[in-house]
Amino acid sequence: MRDRPPDPRRLDIRRFAAAGAQLAGRAGADELPRLVADAPLAGDEGVEWSMRGEQRSGAAGAPELWLHLQARARVVLPCQRCLRPMTLPLQAARAIRFVEGETEAERLDEELEDDVLALPARGGIDALALVEDELIFALPLVPCHEACPEPLRAPSGAASVPEGDAAAHPFAPLAALKRGGGSDR
Ligand SMILES: [Zn+2]
Repeated sequence: MRDRPPDPRRLDIRRFAAAGAQLAGRAGADELPRLVADAPLAGDEGVEWSMRGEQRSGAAGAPELWLHLQARARVVLPCQRCLRPMTLPLQAARAIRFVEGETEAERLDEELEDDVLALPARGGIDALALVEDELIFALPLVPCHEACPEPLRAPSGAASVPEGDAAAHPFAPLAALKRGGGSDR
């Protein structure tokens, strides 16, 4: 009889890595509440994720346990320039090494460039929560359209007239000033 597919919410990293196993699926908005609080998902296709276990022969002879995570989604964020909602693709990929004990995990995390986490004393780890962490980490700090659909008016003082218009109506800027009633100078 075949084993049931592992539960990504309670993943047995030791077994998953030793087997070089793979798992993939889709998570809905309700399964990733922390991500959705920061960035609602676009549409209803959810988050596409995959994970792969790997056991490497470590330098000291002891096997290294790795979990490779990948995810992608489309989220909706307000553009920081025009404030209109924009849909943007989000991608995350991360390899995490698992070791025995918090102390060892902290030591290696500082010493190496690898991302190191401690294996749980018992039970599995919530690998979907790790996927969610990565997607949150991948959110842009200042999301902006490459070109806003309708640029905001230039702030006063930096007002500029499109070159074509200025050539066609050389006195337009002056006329605009007069209409504005500015007579201080
Ligand atoms: Zn914009």
